[in-house]
Amino acid sequence: MKLDREYFKEKKTGKKPKGRYTICCGQEKGRGLLNKNNKADWALIEQHCEDHLTYYSSTKTIEPICCKKCGRLIKYITTLSEEAYKLSEMSDD
Ligand SMILES: [Zn+2]
Repeated sequence: MKLDREYFKEKKTGKKPKGRYTICCGQEKGRGLLNKNNKADWALIEQHCEDHLTYYSSTKTIEPICCKKCGRLIKYITTLSEEAYKLSEMSDD
């Protein structure tokens, strides 16, 4: 869990900053978060997957997991070629 100023402000006041997180998937709102419903964002998601497959030869597949409701990218799930039964999780780069 990441701790930031908002976290401690929240702890002190007991109030959740309004509209900081999406209701459907609890993801933080704001820039830098990708949404598969956005064509430009999807292109970036695809690019990330392609890059990952290029750099990590042990990765067999990579799957972007998005919120079913709003389409926000939550995480990537990769499968490894040597141990395909193992799922490796990756939150970012
Ligand atoms: Zn959502």
